[in-house]
Amino acid sequence: MATLTIDPRISHSTADFVTAGHKLYIDGKFLSAASGKTFPVYNPATGEVITHVPEAESEDVNRAVSAARRAFDSGPWPRLSASERGRILWRVADLIEQHLEEFAELESLDNGKPYTIARIADVPLTVDIFRYMAGWTTKIAGKTFPISFPGDFHSYTLREPIGVVAQIIPWNFPLLMAAWKLAPALACGCTVVIKLAEQTPLSGLKLAQIFDEAGLPPGVVNILTGYGEGAGAPLAAHNDVDKVAFTGSTEVGKLILKAAAGNLKKVTLELGGKSPAIVFPDARIDHAIQGTASAIFFNHGQCCCAGSRLFVHEKIYDQVVEGVSKVAGSIKVAPGLDPSSQMGPLVSDEQYRKVLGYIESGIHDGARVTAGGAKTSDHGYFVQPTVLTNTHPGMKVVDEEIFGPVVCATPFSDADIEAILKQANDTIYGLAASVWTENLSIAHKVSRGLRAGTVWVNCHNVFDAALPFGGYKQSGWGREMGEEVLNNYLETKAVTMAL
Ligand code: NAP
Ligand code: MG
Repeated sequence: MATLTIDPRISHSTADFVTAGHKLYIDGKFLSAASGKTFPVYNPATGEVITHVPEAESEDVNRAVSAARRAFDSGPWPRLSASERGRILWRVADLIEQHLEEFAELESLDNGKPYTIARIADVPLTVDIFRYMAGWTTKIAGKTFPISFPGDFHSYTLREPIGVVAQIIPWNFPLLMAAWKLAPALACGCTVVIKLAEQTPLSGLKLAQIFDEAGLPPGVVNILTGYGEGAGAPLAAHNDVDKVAFTGSTEVGKLILKAAAGNLKKVTLELGGKSPAIVFPDARIDHAIQGTASAIFFNHGQCCCAGSRLFVHEKIYDQVVEGVSKVAGSIKVAPGLDPSSQMGPLVSDEQYRKVLGYIESGIHDGARVTAGGAKTSDHGYFVQPTVLTNTHPGMKVVDEEIFGPVVCATPFSDADIEAILKQANDTIYGLAASVWTENLSIAHKVSRGLRAGTVWVNCHNVFDAALPFGGYKQSGWGREMGEEVLNNYLETKAVTMAL
């Protein structure tokens, strides 16, 4: 029965999960919100309500933070042997992998992305980060120092978990964003309260079951569904939280910073972007066309590192714009659960209206549409992959993050690398960039000159658990993934002993 009311293509187990009564996960227990309130979850392919989840508010945040505080101050997690913590994180990875299809179905149903992509990207990358971080538990170590202070001393550092961590995540990669945050915090021995995005709570709620089954002690991970203002704000401001890690818009990132000021909790932020993709005249043109199209259209442009500003050398500008427009026109836009779908609906009605509004504003300001430019139907939140030309700084579509499948193409004429770097760096953001060239010297010079946390050469959107990811400028503070992310969740203590 349940399958028919949601989508006939999803499995019975996923349908049963979606329609079951959902609960918050606090102190190892599945609980309703203290107020009893719930809010609806939508299928963006149809706009229909598929289920309801608890609406956590301050009282639930307090319960979750208390549980995390107890688990940190007196529970076993930070005191477990490093290898035992690693073993439990590895078990989490195994369990997610065992439920790969269900997770992929949930991501597709809830976020709108193609099931086929969630199955080969979102879920496997989630498994990878848990395994990668499981490996780090046994390698977190301090150093010894030959100090020169008069006398005889033995000095060393300890790396200790930062404490209770609040994590607030967005909806574009619901499971993967949870994993990027949870896996390193847990590897370091922290305890966590995570608030899922209101638009996409389902895979995070499924993850609660996995943590429970993996044998995580109560209170180590607490999972809340709720709204930004109702649950996110009190969590970010909570005095018993030692650190807040946020991914989302730059605007809300600034609010998080203010909320954190009360007890000066540590803050890391992974925010927006307006990433350039720069194509030089010696690039392999077909490869660059496919690559820069995928740079913007992957995940419907709902990537913080989307290649949303395309700079192409004038010699090949027409050819590349025509090629990218052709790719845009050929993308199959359909519900994510349709096996032939290459692009699903945008995540929500709000995002759909916002992206269409940006396209309208671009056209109003003089942009020319060479592909897409409209919604695909009146049913669901589908927007055509869109290419805009005749755009320039000062236009909203060029200056602001659209977070949808819309790219602004601009020619550049100067052979002088400094000139194109100046244009590429002309943004408040600095998350990522890609360079398309066969010339080694250009590739290295441009990679050095770009003010961005990630530079891809002849590729875009290549992620790995081992590689740090994060922003320069207003794209954020700190890094996700790699060895580097451990710094987000560790304190350094210097110990000096007179001998
Ligand atoms: P957002 O408003 O920044 O939301 C991100 C997370 O913060 C969500 O969990 C949200 O809760 C929560 N939140 C909102 N207001 C808060 C507050 N005052 N205090 C604490 N937490 C709060 O992002 P969005 O609404 O999902 O998307 C808006 C724009 O953000 C997008 O159009 C895009 O430009 C950008 N964005 C960037 C990324 C990225 O990866 N860098 C990801 C997603 C979105 P709710 O779920 O209730 O809103
Ligand atoms: Mg929001």
